[in-house]
Amino acid sequence: MSHAHGTRIQEFIGDPVSEAPVVGREKLEEIFQDIQADMRFDHELNGCLNCGICTATCPSAHYYDYSPREIVQLLWTENLEGIYDAMQEKIWACAQCYTCAARCPFGNSPGGLVMLMREVAIKHGMESARNVLRPFSRVMLKLISTGNQLAPDMISKDAFPDWGPNISKVDAPLATLRRAIPVPTLHTTKTAWEVNLKTSVELYTIWEETGVLDSLKTIDTNLFDVISDIMDEKRDDWQDFLDDQEDEDDE
Ligand code: SF4
Ligand code: SF4
Repeated sequence: MSHAHGTRIQEFIGDPVSEAPVVGREKLEEIFQDIQADMRFDHELNGCLNCGICTATCPSAHYYDYSPREIVQLLWTENLEGIYDAMQEKIWACAQCYTCAARCPFGNSPGGLVMLMREVAIKHGMESARNVLRPFSRVMLKLISTGNQLAPDMISKDAFPDWGPNISKVDAPLATLRRAIPVPTLHTTKTAWEVNLKTSVELYTIWEETGVLDSLKTIDTNLFDVISDIMDEKRDDWQDFLDDQEDEDDE
């Protein structure tokens, strides 16, 4: 991870101390309860020795003002103000690599706990979540409306300069690899993004039932409206198709 990348993240996040709104005790408790209520919480936090092994192995800790040990301690000691403060910036520095989870002597997953805190930050519409996710709206649009964001033919050296020299390893055998994948829909952007109507409607139902759309509405109303329009249109098309089928069966 480069310093330039680090600066970009800091720019998205802004100044957490001055922007963090003052919140009451009740709200702090509600936020912590939301984190704790997740079924993953007890699995990912089993106690904490404060040994710092997680921070010593954490790549993000080398580049940011961020420490998984600190995050775990805040949760373990139920430091509600500290948890809230960490959600204004620090939790967004984690790269979700899970090196920490492989090393913790207590079997904790600091990276997993950070993920829970991020989800709760989104649920509560925190400004830090909006700022970090805003640059990804185009990705979210494609991902939610098609189920795919990236097709193999989009992976090229030019498109991913941030992958550094390693992109050449991906690029070299890609033509062969593409032929080796026996699923035609994985081969081109066009087919990857042109999703079967029934599959699209099923995807929208999943996004709705799992709360993905509620989360989206909380942090990006415009994108939610755009995606809702796409969904409505495809659902209408699907209903028309079903009606046509019914008419044909009646004939
Ligand atoms: S989370 Fe695990 S590795 Fe990190 S400080 Fe606590 S006990 Fe140590
Ligand atoms: S998952 Fe996050 S906290 Fe854990 S080592 Fe990776 S970057 Fe650090």
